[in-house]
Amino acid sequence: MERLTADLCVIGAGSGGLSVAAGAAQMGARVILVEGGRMGGDCLNYGCVPSKALIAAARHAHAMTSGAPFGIAPVVPVVDHAATKDHVARVIAGIAPHDSVERFERLGVTVIREYGRFVSRDTLEAGDNAIRARRFVIATGSSPVIPPIPGLDKVSCLTNENIFDLRERPEHLIVIGGGPIGIELAQAHRRLGSRVTVLEGLRALAREDPELAAVALARTRAEGVEIIEGARVERVSNGDGGIRVHVGEGRVYEGSHLLVAVGRKANTDRLNLKAAAVQTDRGGIRVDARLKTSNRRIYAIGDVAGGLQFTHMANYHAGIVIRSALFGLPARVRTAHIPRVTYTDPELAQVGLTEDEARQRHGDRLEVVRFDYAENDRARAELATEGLIKVMVVKGRPVGASIVGAQAGELIQIWAMAIANGLKMGAIAAMVAPYPTLGEINKRVAGAYFSPRLFENPWLRRLVRMVQRF
Ligand code: NAD
Repeated sequence: MERLTADLCVIGAGSGGLSVAAGAAQMGARVILVEGGRMGGDCLNYGCVPSKALIAAARHAHAMTSGAPFGIAPVVPVVDHAATKDHVARVIAGIAPHDSVERFERLGVTVIREYGRFVSRDTLEAGDNAIRARRFVIATGSSPVIPPIPGLDKVSCLTNENIFDLRERPEHLIVIGGGPIGIELAQAHRRLGSRVTVLEGLRALAREDPELAAVALARTRAEGVEIIEGARVERVSNGDGGIRVHVGEGRVYEGSHLLVAVGRKANTDRLNLKAAAVQTDRGGIRVDARLKTSNRRIYAIGDVAGGLQFTHMANYHAGIVIRSALFGLPARVRTAHIPRVTYTDPELAQVGLTEDEARQRHGDRLEVVRFDYAENDRARAELATEGLIKVMVVKGRPVGASIVGAQAGELIQIWAMAIANGLKMGAIAAMVAPYPTLGEINKRVAGAYFSPRLFENPWLRRLVRMVQRF
């Protein structure tokens, strides 16, 4: 056993762990990074990156079928499925050097390609190494949940971890779970020529504003994805050449492939957390607002810490841990300014409170302003008039913004900035947006907040009349 010591030992080389390791090493700390699986973690290898690459391919296929209103005759795209997966693999390979062992070693990080397990409160074993560190950061992420549905273990089932390896076109993809993973992959596969059925136990995209989610779901359905809500899967079996999925009341759906996307579980099994006195709860490792676990020397960040499961959240956590572990600064996690996007077409984006959440929190003090994509000239030119923004405002400040429509993931960013910095609606209204852009929607919705105050204010009208007399 080789004995190693470090200021910081990071367990997991996904988005969160890599950000901590890079930041800490560049600030002069001695850092050991432990990773038993692929460098880059879920986001690079099985999540954000491959899904967005596949969605981009699907968008091309869709464009070929939907140009008629522009005067472009639709054609049935010829999709080479293996080649679309090659595209996905190339995108991953292009980003991989940034997350590679070589890059981290160049930054001065010692990288150990083994899974680690705690043997005491301050020592982790990984392969033949016993690592003692002043601080540990657990950044081991999460994995797809395989629910205890009878029969699921007897059929071949896909998750986000292996669906991007498929070389052939799934003839009929059945998706269990209508969350963001299920719906994004359902639409992409439909556009690439598969028949797709989504079985959702409750409501699809249930975390989102229902009015806006309905727009994204309606379009996905209009493209031919069958989305069945209130369809809790009870049993799965092998059928003639396919997979049978049984939902309540004797309903059975049969498809060629099955994707399970019913949520994620924290990766804690290998860590032997008991030895380190790190406590867990249902969501994952229990942390305080500073991301410290029940063992004060050990932090947990990203998906394994059980909060919002986004790459950008893990990166944000990394910044907090660096401030705390390296500089002793009392940084605390906030979530009010963390955006999220579901990459359907149209996209669905949210930051801060939804209308329902804001109403519960702020009651009568809440004002909701809205603006339709149909009122935006660029959206008209692009024939992308389906969409809408809602901004939740309390005492002149936005507390939430929800957007469904083209580029919603880009448009949400100004609201993420406004909320992160406590800006008022006036800051957005004061901005001059270039014409004609979709981004003008943001300025116009801020205008919608001020116009009743200006145009329906009797005092102001009287003032204007008075000034005209001089
Ligand atoms: P999820 O928890 O968001 O959704 C899972 C859905 O599966 C739920 O709606 C649930 O009702 C349904 N379900 C559970 N058991 C079922 C059953 N037996 N039969 C039918 N339906 C069932 O999970 P997800 O979509 O796998 O996403 C996991 C996490 O990853 C989430 O936290 C999500 O925010 C994150 N993520 C986000 C994005 C994004 O923001 N673009 C993309 C991918 C993943």
